[in-house]
Amino acid sequence: MCQKAVYPGSFDPLTYGHLDIIKRAKEIFSELTIAVAKNPTKPTLFSFRERIQMVKEVTKDMEGITVEGFNGLIVDYCRQKKIKVIIRGLRMISDFEHEFQMALTNRKLSKENIEIVFLMTHESYSYISSKLIKEIASFGGKLSEFVPPFVERKIKEKLKNADINKTDSSRRNYASG
Ligand code: ADP
Repeated sequence: MCQKAVYPGSFDPLTYGHLDIIKRAKEIFSELTIAVAKNPTKPTLFSFRERIQMVKEVTKDMEGITVEGFNGLIVDYCRQKKIKVIIRGLRMISDFEHEFQMALTNRKLSKENIEIVFLMTHESYSYISSKLIKEIASFGGKLSEFVPPFVERKIKEKLKNADINKTDSSRRNYASG
């Protein structure tokens, strides 16, 4: 019988979709580790430290949740932590192919018996992705329905700083040009 599970991801940023999976996983497992990937294959808007901080802040009042960063293969992390269940979220059928491929690869890579458990999100979150959130944010769209307030604040801060840096460098270019 498994008590522990890990939910790995980039969480760039954490959305209500991720949170829905976290809550569902907590109904099944008494201890859930949310493992934030240090170097996901895709470029990130938020640093490793910022992504960990966001997940920690949003889940701080939930019992039985640990948030940690990890680097490398999730199966190696599971072995170190003696965790045998990996949680992944499914939104649409389009997630399935990639997730299935990853699940089979992870199973092959792990020497222990690791099970990958897929949880289906609530239909109202099924279209939310971190990528979409970043796109909406970059066009100044409303984020409150997609991400928790803390995350919304962090996205706004990040984009404001990016704007300031852009303006600064264009000023510098102008001055030097
Ligand atoms: P990764 O780079 O590992 O895919 P993500 O943070 O994008 O990291 O996603 C982590 C997990 O959460 C994946 O299993 C993904 O399918 C799932 N997920 C992302 N968004 C949602 C959502 N809106 N509903 C349910 N699951 C989601």
